[in-house]
Order: sequence, then C-alpha cells, then structure tokens
Amino acid sequence: MIEENVKKLLGEIGENPFGEKVTLVAAVKTQTAENINRAIAAGITDIGDNHVQEFRDKYDAVRGDPRRHFIGHLQTNKVKYLIGRTYLYQSVDRPELAEEISKRSERAGVVSDCLIQINIGNEETKGGFEFDDGVAAYEKISAMPALRVKGLMAMLPFTDDEAILRPLAKKMRELFERLRERDDNIEHLSMGMSGDWKLCVECGSNMVRLGTSVFGPRHYDAAP
Ligand SMILES: *Cc1c(COP(=O)(O)O)cnc(C)c1O
Repeated sequence: MIEENVKKLLGEIGENPFGEKVTLVAAVKTQTAENINRAIAAGITDIGDNHVQEFRDKYDAVRGDPRRHFIGHLQTNKVKYLIGRTYLYQSVDRPELAEEISKRSERAGVVSDCLIQINIGNEETKGGFEFDDGVAAYEKISAMPALRVKGLMAMLPFTDDEAILRPLAKKMRELFERLRERDDNIEHLSMGMSGDWKLCVECGSNMVRLGTSVFGPRHYDAAP
C-alpha cells in the first residue's frame, strides 16, 4: 500500500547524523498519475522523473504541486521541455548538458538549480563525472550564467557489500563538505535508493530517491 509505505518511510527517514533533515524524493518512473497522487496525498512533497516523455505526459495530471526533480539521464535536445518546470536537475552528468540547461534557462529568464552527478563507483553503465574531477566540474558549471549548483548526486554500485558501499558514500560526503565550505548554495547530497538509503543516510546523505519502497516493484510494460 502506497499510503502505508509513505507514512512508514517519512517516519523512519528523519535526520542524518549531521543533524540535517533528509528529503524523500519519490522516484516515479513507470508509475501512473493516480499512484503518484496517492503518494502525494500521503505526504510526499518531492517527485523525481527519469524520462522526459513520462514527465510531460503526466505533468498536468499530478496534483498537489509537488517539487519536480529530474533524476534520469537527460538528452540535451529534451532540456527545453523541462525549463521552468523543474525544481532541481539532479543528473547533470556532463558539461554539454549543463551548458544546454544554462542556455535555455537564460533565454527563459530563469536560474535553474542543479546537482552534479558523480560516478562514485567508476561504473561504465552509469553516467556522471569521475570523483577526481568533481571539483573541476563544480567550478566549470557554477560559472555558467543561469545555473546554480546546489550539491551532488550519486548512485552507489548495486551490491549489498557494505565494505564496498560505506567508503564510497563517505567519500561523497567529504566532497560535498569541501564544496560547501566554499559555496553557501551547496546544500543537497542526493544519495540513496530503496536498497541502500539507510546506509547512505548514516554516511551523510540528506536526500534519498526512493521508488520501490514507495510504490512497490515496478512493472515495465515493454518487458517481454
Ligand atoms: C529508479 C531510480 C531510483 C529509485 O530506485 P529504487 O531502487 O526503486 O528505489 C533512484 N534514483 C534514480 C536515478 C533512479 O533512476
């Protein structure tokens, strides 16, 4: 039950060990507008989309004015559909994407908030800047005229092995703090999905993106 899941999660999530409130972003890919609205009615304030087409299809059917995050891989030619409708671009994973969001935002007369995605596990299947390039990416992107960098996003490798996950999550927190020391806009460390959010919050994440734990297992229509 979506309602029960949301109430339970909101009760559990609370604060991280640094005393920061943790924001729950519901990852809504494949979910119907009806399910999304149920989650919002139960207390979800933030939703995150992966696909521009889905985002557009459901935009008007979603009620309650949630904050809209974009969390999936984003093609530059689709940025135009998101401008002015997105609270936080979490998946800025390459300079060309940042340039496009900044250019389109400038034209629309808005400043867009974003996170820099870091490929913390150095995985070929995941997007994002390499960890060692994180500061340089921040410097380049924060200098763009219509973009404001608000923090970092990462996806940990898909494993249960805490001996692998914990050091990576801690490295992300360290990079986040390094950037925050030089920039007051830095406030979000978005890290944690259904399988690893508790560990991520323990290591200092203050934003988690949960799909399965909110809505249950996903059903992909296209699956054979
Ligand atoms: C789908 C997705 C999530 C949520 O995944 P769950 O394991 O279902 O919680 C989080 N972040 C991103 C970028 C996603 O694509």
